[in-house]
Amino acid sequence: MVLIDGKKVSAEIRGCLAKEAGELKEKTGRVPGLATVLVGDDPASAVYVRNKNKICRELGFKSFEQKLSLDTSEAKLLQLIKELNSNNDIHGILVQLPLPSQIDSEKILQAIDPNKDVDGFHPVNVGKLVVGNALLTPCTPTGIIKLLDYYEIDISGKHAVVLGRSNIVGKPVSMLLLQRNATITICHSRTTNLEEITRSADILVAAIGRANFVTENMVSNGAIVIDVGINRVDGKLTGDINFEPVSKKASYITPVPGGVGPMTIALLMENTLKAFKESIGIN
Ligand code: NDP
Repeated sequence: MVLIDGKKVSAEIRGCLAKEAGELKEKTGRVPGLATVLVGDDPASAVYVRNKNKICRELGFKSFEQKLSLDTSEAKLLQLIKELNSNNDIHGILVQLPLPSQIDSEKILQAIDPNKDVDGFHPVNVGKLVVGNALLTPCTPTGIIKLLDYYEIDISGKHAVVLGRSNIVGKPVSMLLLQRNATITICHSRTTNLEEITRSADILVAAIGRANFVTENMVSNGAIVIDVGINRVDGKLTGDINFEPVSKKASYITPVPGGVGPMTIALLMENTLKAFKESIGIN
């Protein structure tokens, strides 16, 4: 069994991005800029956003931190997005979800300039992903493909079973795997015969948010197992895969933490660099 090391791959990607950003700065005098928007003071969201800004600066990018109070109106947030859209030093805009209930998240995500949509959630980019010509694709799903590529796992022709159909993980990772010529089955809470389906997976991606949900009887020998889940059990981070027993059957498996998680932030930075390059006409 090979333990997929997301920390290592993420660090390598970030190293390459820092180098490229440095070279572009010398050439153009400009740097990629990422704006993060945090509404309210949810501790988990605050940690995520702080981390994103920190890594942004470590790579030599510019970070623009926007913190708004919990009672911010939808109109005020829309106005801020408008300003960020028209700021030429900002190439990526990330609005940390979830937003407070008075704000319609869909409306906010749709207000972001698709060229600055580094999360890849804007309907224009979702459409491009389905068509197969998106520049900015969602970070966690793209991170999963990068991990498979790094470990030289051939995706083509494999049966990939994706547990979960969210717009953030399940659907986009299915599209990306399909683009790479896997045969896809998407499962969700209404799926019947779940065990039978997961046992037929060459590649199993679990993104449901239920600790230790996938047990060894749901996985076939030699399967490639990707755990997206982040669950807190007794203060400890746990994935959706019951790691110990499943790792005895898997050929490759991602741990939690240290698997998919660190890839998400690396791909956010990669998207910011891509958006920057696109905006200055370098491809
Ligand atoms: P959502 O809650 O949006 O979606 C969960 C999906 O799982 C739904 O499609 C749901 O089905 C399905 N599901 C729930 N229970 C079952 C079940 N018993 N059997 C089959 N399917 C089920 O979650 P997200 O996609 O946003 O996130 C999933 C997990 O990944 C979470 O733990 C989250 O924290 C983590 N995550 C990790 C990231 C990272 O960077 N590592 C990034 C993003 C998320 P239905 O649609 O029918 O309700």
